[in-house]
Amino acid sequence: TSIKEGINLLWEGAGGTIPEKQKRLLAILSEESKRLIDLVNSLLDLSKMEAGMMTYSYEPGNLAPLIERAATEMIPLVEARKIAFRKEVETKLPMIRIDRERILQVLRNLIGNAVKFTPEGGRVKVVARFIHRGIEVSVSDTGPGIKKENLTNIFEKFHQAPFKHSNRIKGTGLGLAIVKHVIDAHGGRVWAESEPGQGSSFIFVLPV
Ligand code: ADP
Repeated sequence: TSIKEGINLLWEGAGGTIPEKQKRLLAILSEESKRLIDLVNSLLDLSKMEAGMMTYSYEPGNLAPLIERAATEMIPLVEARKIAFRKEVETKLPMIRIDRERILQVLRNLIGNAVKFTPEGGRVKVVARFIHRGIEVSVSDTGPGIKKENLTNIFEKFHQAPFKHSNRIKGTGLGLAIVKHVIDAHGGRVWAESEPGQGSSFIFVLPV
């Protein structure tokens, strides 16, 4: 964090006026240090979860505002990629026992992946509905899809399905492993449905 703050101070001119070219370099440094912070946080989260040392604070909560927040955070990227984003959240979803921060992390991961893997001009849809004794949330996209043999192992850490243009898509392969830990800890289920070329859906169900 102090590296990032130092970069920001330089960018703002705390050390004197900065020429345009150096500003561009500082912007790259700032972006990369953010990625480093995210990576360290993901590694720490996952290590704690694997060691059974993650503490969850469960409270009765509503999924709707969390979905709204995760979706709102994604607006700049959605607009930049010209993606049609739709949200269908059933009104009056029942309150459930959740750790809000962790479920937000799940939603950020799934919606973030959907937007990241969907080519420009594609569609992403989030649906939340009340089903038998649970709330089901699905995040669907019109991205490249996932081969049948990878549908389960993408939830293992570091697993990244090979893509033709994979060098353009940055990632760590930790997001879905964290998603699975969090949903399991809530007594829920998470899985992926996809046909290559037909997009993907990531679905989780949390018990009511
Ligand atoms: P990362 O996105 O950092 O690579 P994740 O654990 O979130 O790590 O995802 C693991 C892998 O699962 C991805 O690298 C990709 O191969 C596949 N994947 C995840 N979400 C999608 C999606 N919406 N469409 C296609 N493939 C996906």
